[in-house]
Amino acid sequence: MFLLACPHCGPRSVDEFKYQGEVTRRPPERPTLRELTDYVYFRDNVAGVQREWWYHGTGCGLWFVAERDTRTNEVLRTEIPEPSRGRTPAPVEAAVPDTPAV
Ligand SMILES: [Zn+2]
Repeated sequence: MFLLACPHCGPRSVDEFKYQGEVTRRPPERPTLRELTDYVYFRDNVAGVQREWWYHGTGCGLWFVAERDTRTNEVLRTEIPEPSRGRTPAPVEAAVPDTPAV
């Protein structure tokens, strides 16, 4: 078990959240079949830091993005992404204390 910092509620046990998968990149407006297949079915499955969607299901109900090291479960930061395309969301530094790897 590890702590995850909800940008709204602060650090909470990961049991309060639901993992919703890697952050993916949308294909172009007119994707090829290969680009569309990659987008729908394939994930990078990184052994290291990856950006992920999380949902605070038993808390405030916020959807947010976390950067987590999949090898250690260390959460580097969390942020609320902006809905518009082509803009970089402003990060919200997570105040998560060091937690032991599970
Ligand atoms: Zn929350």
